[in-house]
Amino acid sequence: MSLVIDSHSHLYPPSYMEMLRSRTAIPRIDEKDGVCFFVIFPEEEKNGGRPVEAPMWSIDEKLAAMDRGGFDHSVVSLGNPWLDPVTGPESIEWARRINAEFAALESKTMGRVFGLGVLPNARPDEAATIAGEIAKTDGLYGIITGCRICGLAFDDPALEPVWNELSETGLPIFVHPHYAVAIDQLGGFGTILPLGIGFPVETSIAVSRFILSGGLQRYPGIKMLVAHAGGVLPYLAARLDVSWRGDDEAQKRLTELPSEALARLWLDSVVYHRRGLYAAADLVGKDRMLFGTDHPFFKDRPADIFATIADAFSHDRAMLEAVAYENAVSLFNLPVR
Ligand code: URA
Ligand code: ZN
Repeated sequence: MSLVIDSHSHLYPPSYMEMLRSRTAIPRIDEKDGVCFFVIFPEEEKNGGRPVEAPMWSIDEKLAAMDRGGFDHSVVSLGNPWLDPVTGPESIEWARRINAEFAALESKTMGRVFGLGVLPNARPDEAATIAGEIAKTDGLYGIITGCRICGLAFDDPALEPVWNELSETGLPIFVHPHYAVAIDQLGGFGTILPLGIGFPVETSIAVSRFILSGGLQRYPGIKMLVAHAGGVLPYLAARLDVSWRGDDEAQKRLTELPSEALARLWLDSVVYHRRGLYAAADLVGKDRMLFGTDHPFFKDRPADIFATIADAFSHDRAMLEAVAYENAVSLFNLPVR
């Protein structure tokens, strides 16, 4: 393989981790016997969270993991819960501070790491202003968001200023889960069900609401990258189509098949198996899948995660090169050519 870009990779700047440490409610970071723990799900309050290790906050560890994986570049974003815990003017200040830190990564790493920005948990017009600032900032190549923006679901009409700004600027938006859905039904197995089922379903619902509200039709300039290979959407797209066909009201809001709109999303490859990769590739095609690892989460070695996609697409060299590298360059307009 010649060149590889990891487009799903997170970093938690130390100042941001301090903010999470100062909180008593989830999401927060707890400290016990000198070790910090990341606590985001109710069950982790009882059982303790996931240990916070250097790969979460250290750019040197990020570069070392990239070297181990054989990755030339990474597109790095703030991890969940982003700026959800801080609201209003304080959130706007945090957004500018975090965005400046992520913008500096490119020069700090001699062009190996490219940053994404974050939006504040503030009013939608304020979030739109920050989106406009991100679009003009050298060193930032898109935005990461949770499944709500300013606390609102993606089909909320109050978010129109944000979608308008993203469509006009063409700034890519990376949609990522944090809360999980049906969390009260996902207990008893540590983080397996919240992360394995709750996360991808949360993303799938958020993106479906946007698509079904006609969002991609109203704002054709929006470039939406969906985490974890689009969650359950590649598998269930035809079910959405069949439901849409039987619903006159739905057809007024979205005037094409849901799967036609879904095919204009970009999906990452973070699904760890060829079954999921093929479903995702079948939905969006060769030009809209991007390799990712979700570093620093999960213990799989970065090289093994890449080996899964190399193996899945070994019969199609052009597809593999597009997923591994070219699609990230063109989606984020990365200065690597
Ligand atoms: N992946 C993430 O990005 N966040 C988590 O909390 C867990 C896995
Ligand atoms: Zn992630």
